[in-house]
Amino acid sequence: MKLTKLTALELGGAIKKGEVSVKEAAQAALDAVSAQDKALNAFITVTAERVLSRAEQLQAGVKDAQSPLYGVPMAIKDNICTRGVKTSCASKILGDFAPPYDAAVVDKLAQAGAVSLGKLNMDEFAMGSTSETSFYGPVKNPWDLERVPGGSSGGAAAAVAAGMGWYAVGSDTGGSIRQPASYCGVTGMKPTYGTVSRYGLIAYASSLDQIGPLCRDAADCAAILDVLQGKDAKDGTTLDGQYGNLLAGLTGDVRGLKIGLPVDCFGDGLDGEVKAAVLAVADVLKARGAEIVELSFPVMEYVVPAYYIIAAAEASSNLSRFDGVKYGWRAEEYEGLADLYRKTRTQGFGAEVKRRILLGTFVLSSGYYDAYYKKALQVKAVIKDAFDKAFGQCDLLLSPVAPTTAPRLGESLSDPLQMYLSDVYTVSVNLAGLPGLSMPCGFDGKGLPIGAQLIGPHFGEGVLLNAAHTFQLDTDWHKRTPKGGDLA
Ligand code: GLN
Repeated sequence: MKLTKLTALELGGAIKKGEVSVKEAAQAALDAVSAQDKALNAFITVTAERVLSRAEQLQAGVKDAQSPLYGVPMAIKDNICTRGVKTSCASKILGDFAPPYDAAVVDKLAQAGAVSLGKLNMDEFAMGSTSETSFYGPVKNPWDLERVPGGSSGGAAAAVAAGMGWYAVGSDTGGSIRQPASYCGVTGMKPTYGTVSRYGLIAYASSLDQIGPLCRDAADCAAILDVLQGKDAKDGTTLDGQYGNLLAGLTGDVRGLKIGLPVDCFGDGLDGEVKAAVLAVADVLKARGAEIVELSFPVMEYVVPAYYIIAAAEASSNLSRFDGVKYGWRAEEYEGLADLYRKTRTQGFGAEVKRRILLGTFVLSSGYYDAYYKKALQVKAVIKDAFDKAFGQCDLLLSPVAPTTAPRLGESLSDPLQMYLSDVYTVSVNLAGLPGLSMPCGFDGKGLPIGAQLIGPHFGEGVLLNAAHTFQLDTDWHKRTPKGGDLA
């Protein structure tokens, strides 16, 4: 059996039945990492020894296992705290920081019997759209090593696409799960704000950050979310009782479901092949009984500016704690405390992070606060309103994830503003706190994966996942793997 071809749920099922041991699964994943990660650079830390001892320990509990994901190897984005295991946010400034505690999601996954392979590469502090700003070097796209995997959860998407683990958990502040999922041909989901605890997630922009899964298909997504979701006393924004069992809700029945096509998302700037592949998703769901309605979403030109002001403002405040005293790395030479702060931050942060801190500090400074930050919050309310209106006419929205497929390495960073604009289809979902899912829906002429985005109303996860699952019942885009992706 080619284990890396299985979904997480299929592998979990095979482990439960005793067809595969937890150790065999773990070894298959580690072999895939050894064979490919030199080229891909998806991992910052591989905890190989821990993996095998954990696998052995879990084997004894297979019979009594409750979770369908028990024993399945996975990996964790490096901005999520793992006790005793280096958590760097792909930044020099955190050095070899090993947190004294596990993030809430890490705890939950451990209880469900997950086997963690290690920590995944990303854009520094999750700021970026290409995974090139990492202090540990850029991640490569498994479909074409000359191209980026997307960002900031690029390591997560590349690992899942290449069979280095069956799923990953990432974070999404403005598209960082959905966009790399799209570029790498995997399924990824940002849940409704408040669904998953952010305790132990190193904050980028707290009002937008949300943790979610990157995996092979919508069914895996549902199973992982069943584990991750729920109220946590340590994160006051979390809510409880919003969902039943999401996996059990995947019926494949979308009759009568109204899917909205926001015409403003299919205009200028969208690549023709991407547009055709995304629109074809509507046809597949229509054939299953869904109804397609065109509607307007007249706020597209405001979403990127509002997002970058709010995200930078919150980042400038969140990142003030990295000063060389509390965590990680400290400048080697300094004279006095102010100089220690200055030198540590000057040498410890990369260029993109500094750009955001400067921008954020500027928009929050007295005299500019009203003109920029307050204005951006008002625009955020207008965007939320536009979504409310849209969901008055439909149950889900269908849009592209990104205007193009994966760009070449080195192409994006030279023009940051252009790179920010490529987030145009994803950031509004975070501003409104909605759930959004990215799923493979085709390939372009260069053989690169294309993703489609489904967006739901608050706590519409069940409907969203069922629509994606139904699409995947009738298509096989999500089953294709890059060359080398089934090495193990
Ligand atoms: N590309 C966006 C940014 O750089 C989104 C990043 C994210 O979701 N973490 O801010």
